[in-house]
Amino acid sequence: MSLNIQVTRTQHPKEKPDPNHLGFGDFFTDHMFVMNYTEGQGWHDPRIIPYAPISLEPAAMVFHYAQEMFEGMKAYKAPDGRVLLFRPDKNIARANNSNDRLCIPQIPEEDMLQAIKAIVAEDKDWIPEGKATSLYIRPFIIATDAHLGVRPSRTYQFYVILSPVGAYYKEGLNPVKIYVEDEYVRAVKGGMGHVKTGGNYAASIKAQMIAAERGYTQVLWLDGVHRRYIEEVGTMNVFFVIDDEVVTPALNGSILPGVTRDSAICMLKSWGIKVSERQIAIDELFEAAKEGRLREAFGTGTAAVISPIGELNWEGNIAPINGGAIGEISQKLYDNLTGIQLGLIPDTFGWTVE
Ligand code: PMP
Repeated sequence: MSLNIQVTRTQHPKEKPDPNHLGFGDFFTDHMFVMNYTEGQGWHDPRIIPYAPISLEPAAMVFHYAQEMFEGMKAYKAPDGRVLLFRPDKNIARANNSNDRLCIPQIPEEDMLQAIKAIVAEDKDWIPEGKATSLYIRPFIIATDAHLGVRPSRTYQFYVILSPVGAYYKEGLNPVKIYVEDEYVRAVKGGMGHVKTGGNYAASIKAQMIAAERGYTQVLWLDGVHRRYIEEVGTMNVFFVIDDEVVTPALNGSILPGVTRDSAICMLKSWGIKVSERQIAIDELFEAAKEGRLREAFGTGTAAVISPIGELNWEGNIAPINGGAIGEISQKLYDNLTGIQLGLIPDTFGWTVE
């Protein structure tokens, strides 16, 4: 059964931001999607309403116990005017995986897709068309019971908000400098690293601030047990080109299974490039760098798509990568992934959804 979405349009449409100065995540569209959950009743009252502050009790459980999840995906406007989503099925499956880990009730996949399509269609005039711009889609669910004491909430609210965005990093496609974090950890096996929930990001801010003070854009996370095996970089999955092979950490339970990661792996394999998903030790990586075998490094994520890495700093040892320039594989992946996302090249993988 499909959702019966009630629509209330804004009486005060906002002025749209300058597409050349969007930054990331600072502007929000005219409307948002909302749906409530009540125990015994399920999800109900799906609606599109004007984007506005929300009113919650100070005791709402999300504020105290962080029972919440979120997703991140993008809509693009193709040159022929079609509005394209990129692999929304993957984000929706991951959302329900996050819900499962956080004891938040599942949302039927077709309902979540319908909600996302409806709000994007409502505010499609907000999809920017400049170079490297898109409409970022942020679905999220919060626990709303007014209750102190740790238990699952019995009421929730599901929102989808939209933000016209430009490049995630001010560097754009210029390689970023990455600090290998040796004190703090982001996630551990058995924790929540494999799902998208605010707590993971709260845990990451301190290391990110320290890295920034030292002149680094992001941190490379190591595993929480040995502090040796590479996990991910900032809010991206990470790839290395060592000799003629592309290697990326295997999904081990503490790494987020990125949609861009999966797409990059599929694409590389389709080009006949060898890809290994395995454990990678930081000392092995620095050894490869020293021997001149580390040819490229890059992060993958919805926000930046491909973000080349030009330098790694691990305990004061510096590994420059590809002379600080973007590598051939990184550039080719960026061109082909964004080409498909923007409808500029044929989508032979069947990833885009109109
Ligand atoms: N790791 C983390 C911690 C992230 O927040 C993200 C962004 N969602 C990613 C990896 C990349 O995932 P995706 O390619 O699905 O955006």
